[in-house]
Amino acid sequence: MEDVDCVVVGAGVVGLAVARALAAMGREVIVLEAAEAIGTATSSRNSEVIHAGIYYPQGSLMARLCVEGKDMLYNYCAERGVDFRACGKLIVAVSEAENHRLGGIRDRAEANRVAGMRLLSAAEARAMEPSLVCTAALLSETTGIIDSHGLMLAFQGDAESDGAIFVFHSPVLGGRVAGARIELEVGGAETTTLRCRMVVNAAGLHAPGLAGDIKGMPSQMVPRAYYAKGSYFSLAGRSPFSRLIYPVPVPGGLGVHLTIDLGGQARFGPDVEWVDTLDYRVDPSRADGFYAAVRRYWPDLRDGALLPGYAGIRPKIVPPGAPGQDFVIQGEAKHGLPCLINLFGIESPGLTASMAIAAQVAGLARAA
Ligand SMILES: Cc1cc2nc3c(=O)[nH]c(=O)nc-3n(C[C@H](O)[C@H](O)[C@H](O)COP(=O)(O)OP(=O)(O)OC[C@H]3O[C@@H](n4cnc5c(N)ncnc54)[C@H](O)[C@@H]3O)c2cc1C
Repeated sequence: MEDVDCVVVGAGVVGLAVARALAAMGREVIVLEAAEAIGTATSSRNSEVIHAGIYYPQGSLMARLCVEGKDMLYNYCAERGVDFRACGKLIVAVSEAENHRLGGIRDRAEANRVAGMRLLSAAEARAMEPSLVCTAALLSETTGIIDSHGLMLAFQGDAESDGAIFVFHSPVLGGRVAGARIELEVGGAETTTLRCRMVVNAAGLHAPGLAGDIKGMPSQMVPRAYYAKGSYFSLAGRSPFSRLIYPVPVPGGLGVHLTIDLGGQARFGPDVEWVDTLDYRVDPSRADGFYAAVRRYWPDLRDGALLPGYAGIRPKIVPPGAPGQDFVIQGEAKHGLPCLINLFGIESPGLTASMAIAAQVAGLARAA
């Protein structure tokens, strides 16, 4: 059995940001990743949007860490040459009733300290985006898009420069609390046991399962995992919009919205489908629901223009219909173990918040 200082389980964007932050503090860091490379799960199956922090309940971790993380991310991308564009986003109303809701969305955003929110008339919105049909809009100037893989490579590079070691094909199978340490069983070509001073569970969709497989972790503190799949459809041809276009949110979701990648490719989605298994195939028939939703604000969408794209799965810890979940960053104060930090329910805006989540984890690790 080998003694190690910090082990981060999972090399998604959050695990990478955490590894970078811990290594920068001078900690010895080993990142154990089940897959063959960084960022093969949810971190490469998302919208690559730098969220402003508009919709989250005031005082929630999502609200706070999204706004903090967004500023950290913009500064980091500029310093490290990671590709991004602060393209802005329009939330569009298509009826008088929806017009009235825009003011409430702006107020919530401002309560979350989101700068750069501006109500627009239909004419002002159309001057910005001539293809748009709406009755009013709300502009978010600080929303942007990012090269998420470039970001992850930069995090990995920083962590490695500070001595972190990445080990791929290394699924953590489980473990046990042993005094002030955690012993982890690591699979792969050769199974090993590591005795760790600190373990950060950044296993994304598998984080609750992994926590449950650590003997000594209080089971009542481990949430049940639920999966909400989101499918995307790509738009054939050029994007008619240069900003991200979102409808007024519907209960339970943000509605079918348009995002653009840095190459200019437009896509619609993600929708919401609760699933029991991790199957990333996109069912082409789900496009039917997209056409009607998109034509409310872009009537020119042609039949047949939507092509099945890709899908991601949200790591939910509340069941369908339950009130919205928040990020859970669970350290000693919550579960009583000084050697374990669990990250549960890190769905959107986890990419945006990744550096702020890492700063929180580093703070807990420093105090432990
Ligand atoms: C459809 C969708 C759209 C989204 N859009 C956005 C967006 O536009 N902007 C935004 O800010 N956020 C967005 N998000 C959220 C964001 O993508 C996630 O919050 C973020 O990617 C989570 O990163 P992670 O590192 O926690 O998890 P993951 O990327 O899932 O990484 C977890 C890693 O752990 C590894 N692993 C799992 N179990 C083990 C084990 N036992 N041993 C070793 N390794 C293990 C996995 O292989 C994986 O590599 C979106 C999410 C979804 C689903």
